[in-house]
Amino acid sequence: MIKCPACNSKSDERLVKKDVKYYQCGYCGTLFSGELPNDNMVGGGFEIERNTQQNEDRLKRFLDLVSRDSKFLDYGCGHGMLVDYLKTKKINAFGYDRYNPDYNFIAEHEFNLVSMVEVIEHLSHPFSELDQINILMKSGGILYIETSFVDVAKEENIPLQDFFYVEPSVGHSTIFSHKGLDILMAKKGFTPLNHINRNVRLYKKATSN
Ligand SMILES: [Zn+2]
Repeated sequence: MIKCPACNSKSDERLVKKDVKYYQCGYCGTLFSGELPNDNMVGGGFEIERNTQQNEDRLKRFLDLVSRDSKFLDYGCGHGMLVDYLKTKKINAFGYDRYNPDYNFIAEHEFNLVSMVEVIEHLSHPFSELDQINILMKSGGILYIETSFVDVAKEENIPLQDFFYVEPSVGHSTIFSHKGLDILMAKKGFTPLNHINRNVRLYKKATSN
């Protein structure tokens, strides 16, 4: 039996795209393929456009969540455009990207805010990256996740087969449902906060006793 990587429920084959099989969870609706190659994906598509248009908004959101003197980590930072932008704004920002030799180590810890921008859809069971992030964060710290969701396809009446986010050639192996991501995050020690919108989700690291 194929199990959902988010909630562990029974999942069935749902669609095939470019010879890659995707399964969908019968309980939470998360769509997943299992691990796909990601080593050629540093920064992803439209990295420059995505960063120049959106980093100012991201900073505003971050500063609504934590104080300006906080320690920031952009996890899966690509070429570090968000990190560089935050540094120009005098933010104490760091980046990590497994596939970029300039950023493939983390020398700091006790982060107040960690962002994952267009990253989590590239990850697969057991999502050990979230355990690593949890360890790197201060208790009560904020995890900011941008990705797209099966809920978005549903709201827009787009069949999953045609949803642009379901794309194995760019390494998208897990397209969560909102419910599925909340369940997985709870298992990883994070509580959902008021989510910003249907693509930007917020979690708080549970306070350790
Ligand atoms: Zn599920």
